[in-house]
Amino acid sequence: MFKRHSKIFYFIFFLAGVAVFLLLASPSLSSKVKPFFVKPAVEKSADSLEGRETESAEISKIFGAAINTATTTATTHSQARSFSETKTAKKISLELPILIYHHIDKLPQKTAYPGLFNDPAVFEQQLIALKNDGYQTIFLKDLAEALTGKKQLPVKSLALTFDDGYEDFYQQAFPLLKKYDSRATVFVIVDSLNTPGYLTTKQLKEMSASGLVKIGSHTLSHINLKIASDQQIREEIVNSKKKLEKILGQAVDDFAYPYGFFNGRDEQTVREAGYSSAVSTRIGKYQSQNDIFSLRRLRPGNRVASGLLDFLKAF
Ligand SMILES: [Zn+2]
Repeated sequence: MFKRHSKIFYFIFFLAGVAVFLLLASPSLSSKVKPFFVKPAVEKSADSLEGRETESAEISKIFGAAINTATTTATTHSQARSFSETKTAKKISLELPILIYHHIDKLPQKTAYPGLFNDPAVFEQQLIALKNDGYQTIFLKDLAEALTGKKQLPVKSLALTFDDGYEDFYQQAFPLLKKYDSRATVFVIVDSLNTPGYLTTKQLKEMSASGLVKIGSHTLSHINLKIASDQQIREEIVNSKKKLEKILGQAVDDFAYPYGFFNGRDEQTVREAGYSSAVSTRIGKYQSQNDIFSLRRLRPGNRVASGLLDFLKAF
């Protein structure tokens, strides 16, 4: 008798177990019993704290330079578990094309790097197209200030940048910048100044005084930061800034990584040296507060008129 009752008891217990299992396993059923469970205190957008690894998640398209400010209350699984605290992160991002140029000159008969040349006539057409479409050229410092919430930029802002500091910038680009009242930043290789083919200190001063050109550092010797020692990197980044500031008598705020090579250590060194921004060769026009020392750029190539404007919109 007792044994029989015991079997019935175990059978009922088994059925109850199966019922509980089905209840938990079935999504439709579990949703019905949701009120009985405590909802996990997890809110999304925690990845905004993680920097550029999550840039795709951050992309909220705002056209022109409209600022996208997102204040997020972020509590990740891990944070909730390990710290039991809530962090508030404020990030600013905007879409602002930074165009990258090298030479503004006729393509030489012999050159190993034809892609580095833009014909002055093409460059002029590009300036005209940008101006007619309502773009305003800004300095990178303005962008850095916008990304840190210190400044508001015109809706259609754009930055022109020129790497290496070739003399043709003074001869070909500078007159056109004056003609179309456009601003540009030139990244010079400090040890190459006053050598054949490169800008002179006199030209730098004249252009800097015009208010249309800002001079940035492209290191002392165009060193490949990827294979340089920590000490070399520091010297190239810190001393190029100091030398340029001595030449110009004003602050040098912007840096460009030679060959586009950089890592977190280089970014940190640039930041510590007192620069307010750095450009990379990462492609795009999406600029974020997390990437002030690794800003993205776009290569306009020979695109002119609507070809150039469509290219800028496409990214
Ligand atoms: Zn370069």
